[in-house]
Amino acid sequence: MNKILLIEGDGIGPEVVREAHKVLDAVSRRHGLALEYEQALLGGAAIDASGVPMPDATLEAARRCDAILFGAIGGPRWDGLDRSIRPEKGLLQFRSALQLFGNLRPAILYPQLAAASTLKQEVVAGLDILIVRELTGGIYFGEPRGIRTLDNGERQGYNTYVYSESEIVRIARVAFEAARKRQGRLCSVDKANVLEVTMLWRELVSELGARDYPDVALSHMYIDNAAMQLVRAPRQFDVLVTGNLFGDILSDAAAMLTGSIGMLPSASLDINNRGLYEPCHGSAPDIAGQDKANPLATILSAAMLLRYSLNQSAAAEAIETAVSRVLDQGLRTADIHSEGMHKVGTREMGDAVVAALA
Ligand code: NAD
Repeated sequence: MNKILLIEGDGIGPEVVREAHKVLDAVSRRHGLALEYEQALLGGAAIDASGVPMPDATLEAARRCDAILFGAIGGPRWDGLDRSIRPEKGLLQFRSALQLFGNLRPAILYPQLAAASTLKQEVVAGLDILIVRELTGGIYFGEPRGIRTLDNGERQGYNTYVYSESEIVRIARVAFEAARKRQGRLCSVDKANVLEVTMLWRELVSELGARDYPDVALSHMYIDNAAMQLVRAPRQFDVLVTGNLFGDILSDAAAMLTGSIGMLPSASLDINNRGLYEPCHGSAPDIAGQDKANPLATILSAAMLLRYSLNQSAAAEAIETAVSRVLDQGLRTADIHSEGMHKVGTREMGDAVVAALA
């Protein structure tokens, strides 16, 4: 029995999580998976119910479960609150309490949506890459940090870029394992010509690859070149692995290649492959409650949940294939701007994915 925690969140969160739940139920019946669900509150919904954005009960529920499927949090209703109890704070606390260091962000451009990308169709059609970003270390968390006043009275901002051996090896392992489940190619992105942290990064990733993953084709690229290659010839990549700062930038750039924010799933894993799965978009208060949200990013996040936390690759693929079939049928939600497709609502899109499951 695998236990999944459902956290709907705010805005369009409940709408998209319900569709993904529906798809998970349908695929688990077909593949004979035994799934059990719990529900918990996070963000604005938790503030309304208990006064805090991340109740202890939510963290306890997360620790009891094998994986978490999450919608999104936040909205204008809570924007006036103090930063320390805002919905976003709850999500940050949640991620850090669960030590989710491995962030997986696929960027897939379905051929049916090639015209919706900002790049030329011949450059991006068929794009399918995975960016693995270290999420809990690096310069965003390094100490010391701050803004100090120098003896001459000038102010100086400073941060510390630091990665320990164990942090590098554990994220590299996540990336090698992911590459094994895909096309078997991994590109490690660093700035080893300038930064000592990433000299160590390159050394350890190389050692780990040679020792434990000789079947994965490993290459290295400097961050500046990687950014350029990502928009010049993105299909050359299979899996990219990098630190927190470079990963933040590369994953957003890669996201833009795929045509719509409503199509982008993500996973954040801990050391035991337990994970938080969520769409990359926010709670979209502008369209909440109108049956307009695209549920595919959350449905594809549920597919990642099956693949990475429950080791059910066949069931994951079944969902991904069903999504592709739905696009083949010419269905789209309002966020996808592609000529000649038929616009449907959130529920209808979820139902169509269920119907398209093999
Ligand atoms: P957003 O992603 O919610 O929305 C940006 C635009 O994209 C909006 O026009 C929205 O309608 C559209 N959009 C987003 N998801 C969509 C979907 N599935 N289908 C169709 N259209 C979609 O970003 P924002 O407007 O900057 O933020 C809104 C709220 O979400 C804020 O409170 C913000 O703090 C929060 N937020 C939460 C998360 C999270 O929970 N992980 C992430 C980002 C933003």
